[in-house]
Amino acid sequence: MDCIFCKIAKKEIPSSAVLENDSLIAIKDINPQAPVHVLIIPKKHYTTLLDCKDKALFGDMLSAANEIAKKTGVHEKGFRVAINTNHEGGQTVLHLHMHLLAGRPLSGILG
Ligand code: 5GP
Ligand code: ZN
Repeated sequence: MDCIFCKIAKKEIPSSAVLENDSLIAIKDINPQAPVHVLIIPKKHYTTLLDCKDKALFGDMLSAANEIAKKTGVHEKGFRVAINTNHEGGQTVLHLHMHLLAGRPLSGILG
């Protein structure tokens, strides 16, 4: 499948992982919208949030956000996680992923 995040997860495209475990890989966003902008990407392909019923994976994704927030030192000031879904949700890469944004005040819903 010609999916950029599958290729990143399979290391067909090199990237430096902020965090990696059996179920996901977290990498810095190529076009950061905040000083800290990490993408938490399941290794298994799900096109959108709507396609995934794996509750353990959802737990893994939020636990990864927890860990990355502490690892990058943004946990105390604060951060945001978001899963854009489908066109009007702002999803541009059709492989489920969660954003972790931090390092500047995020006002409003999009900051
Ligand atoms: P979406 O808009 O689908 O929620 O988020 C997709 C994100 O993936 C965007 O923030 C975009 O900058 C990022 N992105 C797209 N292609 C790549 C890539 O090849 N490498 C990395 N690190 N980020 C990417
Ligand atoms: Zn994929």
